[in-house]
Amino acid sequence: MKVPFFRPHIGPDEIAEVVHSLENGWLTTGPKVAQFEKNFIEYLGGGVEAVAVNSATAGLHLALEAIGIEHDDEVIVPDYTFTATAEVVRYLGGHPVLVDVDYTTMNVTAAAIEAAITNKTKAIMPVHFAGLPCNMKEIIALAKKYGLKIVEDAAHAIPTFHDGVQVGQLDTDATVFSFYANKTITTGEGGMLVTRDPMVAKRARAMRLHGFNRDAFDRFKTGKWKYDVIAPGYKYNMTDIAGALGIHQLKKAEYFLEERKRVAKRYSEGLKGLPLDLPVDAESGDQHSWHIYIVRLREDADKSRDQVFEELAQKNIMCSVHYTPLHNFTYWKNKYGLSAANFPSADRSGNNAITLPLYVEMPDQEIDYVIGSLTQILSV
Ligand SMILES: *Cc1c(COP(=O)(O)O)cnc(C)c1O
Repeated sequence: MKVPFFRPHIGPDEIAEVVHSLENGWLTTGPKVAQFEKNFIEYLGGGVEAVAVNSATAGLHLALEAIGIEHDDEVIVPDYTFTATAEVVRYLGGHPVLVDVDYTTMNVTAAAIEAAITNKTKAIMPVHFAGLPCNMKEIIALAKKYGLKIVEDAAHAIPTFHDGVQVGQLDTDATVFSFYANKTITTGEGGMLVTRDPMVAKRARAMRLHGFNRDAFDRFKTGKWKYDVIAPGYKYNMTDIAGALGIHQLKKAEYFLEERKRVAKRYSEGLKGLPLDLPVDAESGDQHSWHIYIVRLREDADKSRDQVFEELAQKNIMCSVHYTPLHNFTYWKNKYGLSAANFPSADRSGNNAITLPLYVEMPDQEIDYVIGSLTQILSV
């Protein structure tokens, strides 16, 4: 048996829609991206604007730019995240101030954020880790108390709910989703910036395409060629080929969720006797998206993470690690003189985490093979 880490679920609808784009000749940002944005807003229940981009990294950059992050501003970011969350702050000359996460939830807490606030702090970037919502009620209250902006890194969070409200609809300044190849829905590469602030949406829409005040499709539709440049923008627009995929992936978001829940539940039942810390489910009123399923070796496991990872690979089980905490990467460590002692939970998680294979329509036999293999590896 060979178990892949992930397999995107692309059906005939996605393929036909992409072929349609290729045949109709409109390849860049056009009708399909407009449709995808419209569908995304409807999916979230309306009342927000959606700006499609070519990656979540681009979307996070645009969001920070739109809320006015500038040179030397501080933005609070979890230490335990993908490097993109922090790097976008540097794009604007700002400084990510890294904070430790809670060991159990792997999310940042309002208390840790509050302890990191200085008079240079401008914004907070919570990451809904693995798809488990952060305690946004507390984080939003904190942001209001200190007059800070919030940009949510929701790369793992389609669909995630907090307190009955879907991520994308919370009272924050912007929320950015990822459609990278292994995310919960995919466009190959892509992202969506969602905001309830029309000024943020307007700025992001201009800055995703060179700072133009209107895009090529708008000029094509109206037959008017003139446009203005309002700022030195970026090249972050989504192609219609990606938009074509997004339209159909989004329709399956609920089915994909049910499938990931099925796999996660089977893992949690099958692995509970082992020396592993298993992921916690969302509290009542919340919804975990189960983007990824991470186990962490406990102290009573006799093997190291790398050894277990290697033995799983020998059994043809492809795993991953989410993540090496940022304080362990050369750039972040040297730039800010970071030390593991300041991030005990992230450090411990980073040393002990293994992300197990999880994908839509993953056969029970594969899940059971992973469970059986881990049981065997951890009991000798
Ligand atoms: C995947 C990911 C990103 C970046 O998404 P892209 O669409 O690949 O740019 C950002 N943050 C987190 C937490 C991610 O997992």
